[in-house]
Amino acid sequence: MNTHIANTPSRSVYFGEEHELLRDQIRRFVDEEVKPHALQWEQDGMVPRAVLRKMGELGFFGIRYSEEYGGSDMDTLATVVLAEELGRSTFSGVAITVLVHTDMASVHLYNSDSVELKRRFMPDVIAGRKIVAVGVTEPGAGSDVKGIRTTARRDGDSYILNGSKLFITNGVHADLYCVAALSNPDARPSQRMSMFLVEKGTPGFRVGRALDKQGWRSSDTAELLFEDCRIPASNLLGQEGQGFYAIMRNFQNERIVIGAMAMGEAQAAIEITLDWVTQRQAFGEPLWSKQTIRQRMAMLASRVEAGKQLVYHAAWLVARGIDATKEVSMVKAYCGELVNEVMYACLQFHGGMGYMRESTIERMSRDARVQSIGGGATEVMLEEVAKRMTGSSGSKR
Ligand SMILES: Cc1cc2nc3c(=O)[nH]c(=O)nc-3n(C[C@H](O)[C@H](O)[C@H](O)COP(=O)(O)OP(=O)(O)OC[C@H]3O[C@@H](n4cnc5c(N)ncnc54)[C@H](O)[C@@H]3O)c2cc1C
Repeated sequence: MNTHIANTPSRSVYFGEEHELLRDQIRRFVDEEVKPHALQWEQDGMVPRAVLRKMGELGFFGIRYSEEYGGSDMDTLATVVLAEELGRSTFSGVAITVLVHTDMASVHLYNSDSVELKRRFMPDVIAGRKIVAVGVTEPGAGSDVKGIRTTARRDGDSYILNGSKLFITNGVHADLYCVAALSNPDARPSQRMSMFLVEKGTPGFRVGRALDKQGWRSSDTAELLFEDCRIPASNLLGQEGQGFYAIMRNFQNERIVIGAMAMGEAQAAIEITLDWVTQRQAFGEPLWSKQTIRQRMAMLASRVEAGKQLVYHAAWLVARGIDATKEVSMVKAYCGELVNEVMYACLQFHGGMGYMRESTIERMSRDARVQSIGGGATEVMLEEVAKRMTGSSGSKR
């Protein structure tokens, strides 16, 4: 039993009562509906649709979306609560399945000005009746988004998509796909691409293969193929040629969410390890009696607290419409690395048991690895921070 998992509200100036109520509700759902079953979902390679549906019914998928579509119109900090609590579940595969749907994929539909598409799909997205994926990465382009090769050629009232996408979360089981493609190949690199909505079952679109991963085993990840895939021109999300800007804008939300999720995972790992080291005996006393272990744990807890507060601060800035690209990049770089350092130490303190598949920390360590890569690798994020340190991007702060 995890005696150290404190069920106290987060003591932070950033959160109000509505955030804490949401936190309690999500934590209860995680305890009752996720933790008892998620090991099976790891085996299955997916989160059952019935569970996602239930989360939709409870309102977890519409936290940020307007009431017009069935959402609850809350702010970025509410998203942070969702991500942190899902991260604390210890099942990051479940967390990423949900968070890609709510905060990385469906945002491309919601934040576009394509009103008809929003009216048609957002209620189902929020209710969990339709799950969304986002396809930007390709075999030849990940960090370098401008390097994508998938094309979208206009043909009368249609666009015809050709190309492929790689590493797409929810790729196998989604119903809707927000896909980046080059619609204006002769324009400047930043104005070549657009985002499109592709429905599952559209002729010419298929899942190439499901990918086998080190971690996030309950999250499905796929390769997507587009072969003369004809979609209605009205499935253009937003303005033609503005896809790169939309991707960069939505990345800000994605990176805060990944940071919050990482800090939730790190907190849970520290709590689990605290239980272990206070009980496990070596040399006639609990491991906790060793100053080196105690102090390393205390330092990691301090850094996780700092990481958490950075996430909250960046979310608070974003919620107020303040440009926080520097802080958000810091969040992604710092939290993505820190969660891995925490997992390394926590597994180490579990000794041989930490290396066993049956231990929670082993799974959490595998899950954490991707968080310094996906959604903006640490090195790419640090470049964003560095640019803003010298003022070369125009925002020296
Ligand atoms: C499990 C998983 C799920 C994912 N889900 C999605 C999804 O749903 N949708 C989607 O579109 N994509 C998704 N991705 C893709 C993910 O965002 C990319 O993997 C990531 O952006 C890195 O791109 P890449 O893999 O092509 O690595 P590359 O761009 O080839 O980079 C490789 C490494 O080089 C280094 N590097 C890169 N650029 C620089 C630089 N400028 N300076 C210094 N070092 C650098 C970094 O260490 C980086 O990790 C997912 C990936 C994984 C693994």
